[in-house]
Amino acid sequence: MANTKKRPKYIFVVGGVMSSVGKGTVASSIAYMLQSRKFRATAMKIDPYVNVDAGTMNPTEHGEVFVTDDGDETDQDMGNYERFLNTSLSSTNYMTTGRVYLSVIERERNLGYAGKCVEVVPHIPLEVINRIRRAQRKTKSDVTIIEIGGTIGEYQNILFLEAARMMKLANPDDVAVVMVSYLPIPSVIGEMKTKPTQTAVRSLNSAGLNADFIICRSSKLLDAPRRAKLAMMCNLRDADDAISAPDLDSVYEVPLWLEEQGLGKRILERLKLPRRQPEMRQWKTFVGRSKKAKKEVKIAVVGKYFSTGKFTLADSYISVIEALKLASWYNDRKPVLTWVDSEEYERHPKKVSELAQFDGILVPGGFGTRGIEGIMKAIRFAREKKIPYFGLCYGMQLACVEMARDLLDLRGAHTVEANPQSPHPIIHLNPIQKRNIRQNRYGGTMRLGAYDCAIQKGTKTWQAYKSVTISERHRHRYEFNNEYMKPLAEKAGMIFSGMNKDHNLVEIIELKDHPWFVGVQFHPEFQSAPLKPHPLFLGFVAAAVRYSK
Ligand code: GLN
Repeated sequence: MANTKKRPKYIFVVGGVMSSVGKGTVASSIAYMLQSRKFRATAMKIDPYVNVDAGTMNPTEHGEVFVTDDGDETDQDMGNYERFLNTSLSSTNYMTTGRVYLSVIERERNLGYAGKCVEVVPHIPLEVINRIRRAQRKTKSDVTIIEIGGTIGEYQNILFLEAARMMKLANPDDVAVVMVSYLPIPSVIGEMKTKPTQTAVRSLNSAGLNADFIICRSSKLLDAPRRAKLAMMCNLRDADDAISAPDLDSVYEVPLWLEEQGLGKRILERLKLPRRQPEMRQWKTFVGRSKKAKKEVKIAVVGKYFSTGKFTLADSYISVIEALKLASWYNDRKPVLTWVDSEEYERHPKKVSELAQFDGILVPGGFGTRGIEGIMKAIRFAREKKIPYFGLCYGMQLACVEMARDLLDLRGAHTVEANPQSPHPIIHLNPIQKRNIRQNRYGGTMRLGAYDCAIQKGTKTWQAYKSVTISERHRHRYEFNNEYMKPLAEKAGMIFSGMNKDHNLVEIIELKDHPWFVGVQFHPEFQSAPLKPHPLFLGFVAAAVRYSK
């Protein structure tokens, strides 16, 4: 025990049977359960895609692109880890197949393998292991949780499983495998079936690994006979290593639930970590508060509708949704979020008045031209009817365009993203971005990651942040055109309450004669967590609550 105490430990989280069973939530929860015991814990994601990052993927196919402080465009699960661990992670905690191959090929070109034949096995898994260890060292973690994307049995993630196998073989006491599986209850049969999970474990076995724990996702509780069967058929050391995980009201209840099932204690035992009691008081208080909130706050999220692809709007805007939920709970309100398709307002302009029923209107980030005229109709409605408005990135840019058109009378005012020939380019491109576009350099070339922003005292933004310097994460190509600052301030009552002083860029706008109208060039949603709800989201929902009265 003594000499294993300080060795870094690793937990691989894999998915069995099907996707979307909540691997990310389980990985985040386990990380939090360890952190609550004062272990240093970090979580990382391995995506099977050949893409180098998530930035060039369509959100309807991949879901949200989560941006880290250091400007990496990653998977939405990184957001889960940050929210549960209340910390900021870097690009070291994210890898894709593309990224792994790219560095192996680059190293080979630089004679980094000293003339050896470079092979898929072992060099690819060895590079994966390098990266896992690098993340461990950088975060100085006692325990590193590694979520392997995809499902057991598919071809794509086999080299990542091989990395896990190699690590486990070298240090069996330092590596554990958690399989998150799904146990269907077919309605015609009416009973929970374990066979798909057994088959998934067999597939895992064929990769040379076994599950130390199986998280049994289902709509109902796992009963004793099935637990015993799983233990027997899936080589579990103890029947209690099959953990029941029924559907819960919110993902934030999952760590509390898994703790109650004894998972935390069992993980410590398996990894030969010293026994410690968890301290989850603050988390429990937060969950309790969220469950108590009964009065509603109604928020409309206006954007173009994604009607195709595997992912829905909810996946594409998960951080926005979570930030809104957290802010609502901290305002003791139950969030009721409604997706509004802005294209409806282009087809039927009068319909925009339906927005009067909401307590707040939010326009999230976006790209392209579809639906933006409808979005601007919604923004105008919020502005004129004095409904609290929060614009994120595109939501800020389009608010500026809307006011330039309506209050400055600038016909044809636009963002050059939508009309490169606009006579009044309210949102434009700086020379660096112009060159990127000319050269078709789209991967990883937007303004990405954390930038400081100076807040003007006395503004609503300042009231929210209670600070004069803040740091927020960006992901956009276009910027506010400062030539329009003066006219918008004078004729539209716009206040430029947040500026990037280093590059003289407008980061936050708000309106003088409006209860709460704020637009931000960055993505505040990436920095909201259960134990640290974001000040602007809190301010927006508080304004919505006041408005509802
Ligand atoms: N399309 C806009 C830009 O690139 C806004 C991006 C966003 O909302 N994330 O600047």
